[in-house]
Amino acid sequence: MSSVSERYEQIEQRIQSACGLAGRSRSEVELIVVTKNHPVDLAVELFDLGHRNFGENKDQEVSQKAQEFALLKPQAVVTWSFIGQLQSNKAKSVIRYASSLHSLDRSSLLKELNKQLEIADSELRVFIELNLTGDSNRGGIQPDNLVEFAHLVLDSPRLKLQGVMAVAGLNVDPRQDFEIARTAAETLLTMEPDAKYLSMGMSEDFEVAIDFGATHLRVGSAITGPRPQSA
Ligand SMILES: *Cc1c(COP(=O)(O)O)cnc(C)c1O
Repeated sequence: MSSVSERYEQIEQRIQSACGLAGRSRSEVELIVVTKNHPVDLAVELFDLGHRNFGENKDQEVSQKAQEFALLKPQAVVTWSFIGQLQSNKAKSVIRYASSLHSLDRSSLLKELNKQLEIADSELRVFIELNLTGDSNRGGIQPDNLVEFAHLVLDSPRLKLQGVMAVAGLNVDPRQDFEIARTAAETLLTMEPDAKYLSMGMSEDFEVAIDFGATHLRVGSAITGPRPQSA
């Protein structure tokens, strides 16, 4: 079996090749390693390999992990991106440790974030999560509602709009979904010049995502190995 360091190195090579094929610079693409369900030791191991940007999807898990990490590596400067669906009552907690939220997916969450950021006198970088499933019961903003929702974000001075986040559907060619996300990102950019980022691409599809303009890859199991089941 391969080790974390071997897989990390392999994924880095594949990112570089995909950037080369797409005619893009490696520096345009940030790799976020998703360490969810894994103990803090894995983040420490990746840190020792030179990695700095981590992704997590449960408030309780990451708030604890970020604290443990800070104890183990007191001088370390790392980022924790929140990438999962967030309950509004966790907004207060998330703004304490998250460098960015990739999953802003509804106006009730936006309102609570605004409220908590006001109280904390703080700011948060956010990506609007698109719903590409066509099923409005799933999380995320329908592409047709993107402009309207983006106005709400842009009217929130404490939310710093970064761009769009998307997860490709399970049983479709990711190209279809990534094309929709790319178009949405272009629309957003006409509204806000700083909203130039596109968070998409996971273990199974990050090379395609690079081809479609992804700037933030969220790669978990291809680097970390299989996830232990969450409690
Ligand atoms: C778990 C997760 C990932 C990483 O998934 P892998 O398939 O393990 O690479 C990326 N994005 C989101 C939103 C996730 O929840």
